[in-house]
Amino acid sequence: MASNYTAPVQTLIDELGRLPGIGPKSAQRIAFHLLKVPADEVTRLAASITDAKSRVRFCDRCFHVADGPLCPICADEGRDGRVLCVVEESRDVVALERTGEYRGRYHVLLGAMSPLEGIGPEQLKVRELVARIEPEGVEEIILCTNPNTEGEVTAMYLARLLKPIGLSVTRIASGLPVGGDLEYADELTLGRALEGRRAVED
Ligand code: ZN
Repeated sequence: MASNYTAPVQTLIDELGRLPGIGPKSAQRIAFHLLKVPADEVTRLAASITDAKSRVRFCDRCFHVADGPLCPICADEGRDGRVLCVVEESRDVVALERTGEYRGRYHVLLGAMSPLEGIGPEQLKVRELVARIEPEGVEEIILCTNPNTEGEVTAMYLARLLKPIGLSVTRIASGLPVGGDLEYADELTLGRALEGRRAVED
C-alpha cells in the first residue's frame, strides 16, 4: 500500500495490521486512536503487553497459558488424567472450565488446521498430544475444536490419527452455534455439549 505517513506512523500501522482480525483500515483507525489519547494511556497498554508476554508462558504439558512450567490444571492432582479435552486456544479452556462440568485435563493445539493459510498438523501441538497418551495413561480424547470449517477439519484429522491407537475418541455434541466459536457459547450450552459428546464415526 502506498503511503504518505511518516515512518513511525507507518511502522505502527504495519505492526497493528499483523494482529489477527485487524485489516489495513482497522490498523489505521487504531493507530490514529493511539496517537490521539493521552500518553499515559498508551504507556499502560504497552506495559500490559510487555508484562503479559514476559510473565506468561505456555504449560510444558498442555500448552495452556501458565506462569510456571505447569498450568494450574496440570498441576492439580485431583484432575482425572485419563480424559483429555483437545481445544484450539487457551480461551477455550477458560470457557470449558466455566461450565464446572469437566474434571479431566486439556491439550491446547494453539490453533486449528487451515489448508488455505498453510496451517497443518506440524504447525500445531499435535505431536505433543500423541506423545502424552501413553505416559499419562489417557483413555479418552474429547475433540472440542470450534464448530467451524477449520475446527471440523482438525477434529476429523485427529480422530483418524488417534482411533487406531485404541483410544475412545469423542466429539463435543452439536447444538453449539455452527460456524461460531466455543468461547461464545454460554456455560449451560457448553456443559450440555460436553455431556452429550459422541464417538466419532468413520
Ligand atoms: Zn497444563
